[in-house]
Amino acid sequence: MSETRTFTGGCHCGQVRFECTTDLATVTACNCSICTKKGLHFTFLPLESFQLRAGAESLKEYLFNKHAIRHQICNECGVEVFARGRKPDGAEIVAVNVATIDHIDLASLTMTPIDGRNR
Ligand SMILES: [Zn+2]
Repeated sequence: MSETRTFTGGCHCGQVRFECTTDLATVTACNCSICTKKGLHFTFLPLESFQLRAGAESLKEYLFNKHAIRHQICNECGVEVFARGRKPDGAEIVAVNVATIDHIDLASLTMTPIDGRNR
Protein backbone atom coordinates (compact mmCIF):
# COMPACT_ATOMS: atom_id res chain seq x y z
CA MET A 1 0.00 0.00 0.00
CA SER A 2 2.83 2.45 -0.67
CA GLU A 3 1.64 3.63 -4.05
CA THR A 4 0.25 7.15 -4.08
CA ARG A 5 -3.21 7.29 -5.58
CA THR A 6 -6.40 9.27 -5.47
CA PHE A 7 -9.17 7.88 -3.31
CA THR A 8 -12.79 8.87 -2.96
CA GLY A 9 -14.73 8.61 0.24
CA GLY A 10 -17.45 10.02 2.38
CA CYS A 11 -19.77 9.62 5.33
CA HIS A 12 -22.31 6.83 5.73
CA CYS A 13 -25.38 8.63 4.40
CA GLY A 14 -23.51 10.07 1.42
CA GLN A 15 -24.02 13.79 2.03
CA VAL A 16 -20.34 14.39 2.70
CA ARG A 17 -17.99 13.34 -0.11
CA PHE A 18 -14.28 13.92 -0.63
CA GLU A 19 -11.30 13.03 -2.74
CA CYS A 20 -7.79 12.66 -1.38
CA THR A 21 -4.38 11.70 -2.67
CA THR A 22 -2.25 9.57 -0.38
CA ASP A 23 -0.01 6.51 -0.20
CA LEU A 24 -1.64 5.47 3.11
CA ALA A 25 1.87 4.82 4.42
CA THR A 26 1.09 6.28 7.83
CA VAL A 27 -2.24 5.45 9.43
CA THR A 28 -2.57 6.16 13.12
CA ALA A 29 -3.67 3.75 15.79
CA CYS A 30 -3.92 6.30 18.56
CA ASN A 31 -4.79 5.61 22.19
CA CYS A 32 -6.19 9.07 23.01
CA SER A 33 -9.74 9.38 24.34
CA ILE A 34 -11.48 10.30 21.10
CA CYS A 35 -9.62 7.93 18.77
CA THR A 36 -10.31 5.08 21.17
CA LYS A 37 -14.00 5.81 21.68
CA LYS A 38 -14.72 6.46 18.01
CA GLY A 39 -12.35 3.88 16.56
CA LEU A 40 -10.59 6.56 14.52
CA HIS A 41 -7.64 5.81 12.27
CA PHE A 42 -6.26 8.92 10.60
CA THR A 43 -3.88 9.60 7.80
CA PHE A 44 -2.53 13.15 7.71
CA LEU A 45 -2.42 15.09 4.46
CA PRO A 46 -1.37 18.54 3.32
CA LEU A 47 -4.34 20.76 2.49
CA GLU A 48 -3.81 20.44 -1.26
CA SER A 49 -4.14 16.65 -1.15
CA PHE A 50 -7.72 16.80 0.13
CA GLN A 51 -10.80 18.15 -1.64
CA LEU A 52 -14.22 18.26 -0.09
CA ARG A 53 -16.58 17.48 -2.98
CA ALA A 54 -19.96 17.63 -1.27
CA GLY A 55 -21.59 18.25 2.05
CA ALA A 56 -19.74 21.23 3.49
CA GLU A 57 -23.10 22.49 4.81
CA SER A 58 -23.77 19.11 6.50
CA LEU A 59 -20.63 19.18 8.62
CA LYS A 60 -20.73 19.83 12.29
CA GLU A 61 -17.52 20.71 14.09
CA TYR A 62 -16.57 19.04 17.35
CA LEU A 63 -13.91 20.56 19.57
CA PHE A 64 -12.46 19.41 22.87
CA ASN A 65 -9.42 19.78 25.06
CA LYS A 66 -7.16 22.45 23.51
CA HIS A 67 -9.34 22.78 20.40
CA ALA A 68 -6.22 22.03 18.36
CA ILE A 69 -8.03 19.53 16.17
CA ARG A 70 -11.38 20.43 14.61
CA HIS A 71 -13.29 17.19 14.09
CA GLN A 72 -15.72 17.26 11.14
CA ILE A 73 -18.84 15.16 11.61
CA CYS A 74 -21.80 14.61 9.29
CA ASN A 75 -24.84 16.03 11.07
CA GLU A 76 -27.12 13.47 9.42
CA CYS A 77 -25.38 10.11 9.95
CA GLY A 78 -22.87 11.02 12.66
CA VAL A 79 -19.78 9.74 10.89
CA GLU A 80 -16.57 11.66 11.49
CA VAL A 81 -15.08 12.04 8.02
CA PHE A 82 -12.00 14.13 8.68
CA ALA A 83 -10.45 16.65 11.00
CA ARG A 84 -8.60 19.89 10.47
CA GLY A 85 -5.50 20.89 12.35
CA ARG A 86 -2.12 22.55 12.16
CA LYS A 87 1.38 21.21 12.20
CA PRO A 88 3.82 22.66 14.76
CA ASP A 89 5.09 24.99 12.01
CA GLY A 90 1.55 26.35 11.54
CA ALA A 91 0.81 24.69 8.20
CA GLU A 92 -2.78 23.52 7.87
CA ILE A 93 -3.32 19.79 7.58
CA VAL A 94 -6.24 17.48 7.11
CA ALA A 95 -6.58 14.19 8.95
CA VAL A 96 -8.74 11.80 6.95
CA ASN A 97 -10.55 9.06 8.85
CA VAL A 98 -9.36 6.20 6.63
CA ALA A 99 -12.47 4.19 7.47
CA THR A 100 -14.46 6.65 5.33
CA ILE A 101 -12.43 5.92 2.17
CA ASP A 102 -14.54 3.98 -0.33
CA HIS A 103 -13.93 0.20 -0.28
CA ILE A 104 -11.10 0.47 2.25
CA ASP A 105 -9.98 -2.74 3.91
CA LEU A 106 -8.85 -1.63 7.36
CA ALA A 107 -7.24 -4.97 8.12
CA SER A 108 -4.89 -4.56 5.16
CA LEU A 109 -3.42 -1.29 6.45
CA THR A 110 -0.26 -0.95 8.47
CA MET A 111 -1.10 0.98 11.62
CA THR A 112 1.36 3.31 13.33
CA PRO A 113 0.86 3.36 17.12
CA ILE A 114 0.51 6.90 18.53
CA ASP A 115 0.57 7.55 22.26
CA GLY A 116 -1.97 10.37 22.12
CA ARG A 117 -3.21 9.60 25.63
CA ASN A 118 0.02 10.88 27.15
CA ARG A 119 0.51 13.98 25.04
ZN1 LIG B 1 -23.64 11.45 6.57
